[in-house]
Amino acid sequence: MEFLRPATWREALEAQANHPGAVPIAGGTDVMVELNFGRNRPPALVDLTAVDELAEWSTVDGEIRIGATMSYTKIIAELAEELPGLAMAARTVGSPQIRNRGTAVGNLGAASPAGDSHPPLLATGATVEADSVRGSRDIRIEEFYLGVKRKALEPDELIRAIRVPAKRGPQQFSKIGTRNAMVIAVCSFGIALNTLDRTVGTGIGSAAPTPRHAGDAEEFLAGNLPWDDRDPVPDGVARRFGELVADAAVPIDDVRGPARYRTHALSVMARRTLGWAWEEYRCA
Ligand SMILES: Cc1cc2nc3c(=O)[nH]c(=O)nc-3n(C[C@H](O)[C@H](O)[C@H](O)COP(=O)(O)OP(=O)(O)OC[C@H]3O[C@@H](n4cnc5c(N)ncnc54)[C@H](O)[C@@H]3O)c2cc1C
Repeated sequence: MEFLRPATWREALEAQANHPGAVPIAGGTDVMVELNFGRNRPPALVDLTAVDELAEWSTVDGEIRIGATMSYTKIIAELAEELPGLAMAARTVGSPQIRNRGTAVGNLGAASPAGDSHPPLLATGATVEADSVRGSRDIRIEEFYLGVKRKALEPDELIRAIRVPAKRGPQQFSKIGTRNAMVIAVCSFGIALNTLDRTVGTGIGSAAPTPRHAGDAEEFLAGNLPWDDRDPVPDGVARRFGELVADAAVPIDDVRGPARYRTHALSVMARRTLGWAWEEYRCA
């Protein structure tokens, strides 16, 4: 197996284009597991960690641009104000060691429906920057996931960054697992209230072949929240929101949990995260 360590983004794109079947590696917390268990033996690895710019974030036109090798630890330390939903999700990933190495872009690359970054990225309407030697394109987050561990990247494309709109209102994330740490989600949910244009974003994890929005729930909630009065969310509205979130899921029974439990848990998480987010809005 060839090990390639490009020093610039251009070299990384060329390495990916010139080595069919090459596997890019960011933190390696998924890639190395696959290699160690002999599940994958790619002809080449393209290590992106020597491309310095990828470890950083910047602000571009009101969006936060997160580089491809920026770790969860750095997201938590530096972006908790601007991207609270993603930072909350990042805090639940693995252990400190995994968070020091692992990246949100690697989570996208793995495209597991259970990845913790997906609900907040969906809820906030993130954009994936995909580059190749042929050029660059933006992929809207909801169009990025194609199926279980399948994503909308061509073999020669690499993700350079994710762009996430900066906070426009309260955000929350909730994850259910069999314990509090070092656990892959049984199911998860993210919500983002946009108090400027009074819209709602959602993201469901680990309850369908791909992470997904709960579109009907978003529309219902945006139209029924007492935005002006800032009164508590009426029980009936919270309950209906929970039902619509659960309706948007198509969970399966698997080792982590039965489908019925996931459906129920999603409706509970939807109501709870809404309650937390709305309290923040009311008290602001
Ligand atoms: C002990 C343990 C606990 C874990 N716990 C969690 C958890 O709680 N929640 C969770 O979501 N995940 C968890 N994971 C999985 C893993 O840590 C995450 O998916 C992490 O986000 C992967 O990031 P990485 O940078 O290490 O990715 P890598 O392993 O480097 O790459 C992952 C995938 O993305 C591809 N890739 C990497 N960079 C790019 C790029 N720039 N462009 C295109 N493709 C790219 C790789 O080829 C590979 O397919 C855990 C893993 C371990 C080993």
